[in-house]
Amino acid sequence: MNTPFLANATPLQDPSEAPSWQQQLANVIDSPQVLLEILELPSQLLAAAQQGHHDFKLRVPRAFVNRIEKGNIRDPLLRQIWPFAQEQEPAPKDFVFDPLGEANSNQNAGIVHKYQNRVLLIVNGSCAVHCRYCFRRHFPYGDNQLTRQQWVETLKYVEQRPEINEVILSGGDPLSSSDARLFDLINAIEAIDHVKRLRIHSRLPIVIPERITHELVTRLQQSRLQTIMVVHANHANEIDASVGNALLKLHQAGITVLNQSVLLKGINDNAQSLIDLSERLFEFKTLPYYLHLLDKVVGAHHYDVTEQTAIELINEIQITLPGFLVPKLVREIDGQPSKTLISI
Ligand code: SF4
Repeated sequence: MNTPFLANATPLQDPSEAPSWQQQLANVIDSPQVLLEILELPSQLLAAAQQGHHDFKLRVPRAFVNRIEKGNIRDPLLRQIWPFAQEQEPAPKDFVFDPLGEANSNQNAGIVHKYQNRVLLIVNGSCAVHCRYCFRRHFPYGDNQLTRQQWVETLKYVEQRPEINEVILSGGDPLSSSDARLFDLINAIEAIDHVKRLRIHSRLPIVIPERITHELVTRLQQSRLQTIMVVHANHANEIDASVGNALLKLHQAGITVLNQSVLLKGINDNAQSLIDLSERLFEFKTLPYYLHLLDKVVGAHHYDVTEQTAIELINEIQITLPGFLVPKLVREIDGQPSKTLISI
């Protein structure tokens, strides 16, 4: 097998030079004014951003900001995290506060059980980055902050249901938790015999790649559970050398690494962006898994791309990409037992 990573990628940064993930998490930018100054954005963007920030806080790690082009209000990474004025426009009628109906599937605090064989555990409510299109931007995370003792009770739910063979750690971002908390939880899941797989949904390997520490990788590698890491990148520019390094570490530890992305207007709604993303991911042994149509959440309508356009884009990228680099186009529909695959 050839090594496109070594041939094409920019040299890896020495991880010892970067601040620890905990330092980076403590030092995220959470002020529109500060971000505006760092990125040399036009000052007229500030008032609307302050308003959007009031509804759903701006929050972004500096490592991610470093990948944004200064002064470019069309930068595809900036558009994911900056509260633009459109958030304040009245939402179309089909945009709602809980587009996936998670409040109904969330009868037990900390658990979302929508699919028969798998459950999603809300490990914590915090994310390193706030993505403006997030379908959980109005989710009551405060009601799902559990103590360790509550976790024990919550996991009884899984224990009592032998049909559950996969546990998904989600959030917020599960990797925002300390190793101690995360490893306790993994220990408890491993103790449930009928659980075979552990899936971790996290944006941290992309926004603070230093989160993929030796300790974390070793713990996952030692698990009796088959482990899958599902990362979330929407544009090739998100994947710099340090992100590539983190993805490769996971792959080399035998962890299956998949990416899911969201089709976002003005960010990746053109064939070349989607092709570049798939190619860049696979340079680092990560497979493009899902391309989601936007979940219609209030405040995000300006990111919406029609289903017809999405189908045309998939048809277009199929001409260039091998099948395994074409993500599945899906939509989540409230009440459906699984994601709905959009036929091309
Ligand atoms: S990291 Fe995921 S859960 Fe957190 S804001 Fe972004 S899309 Fe939402």
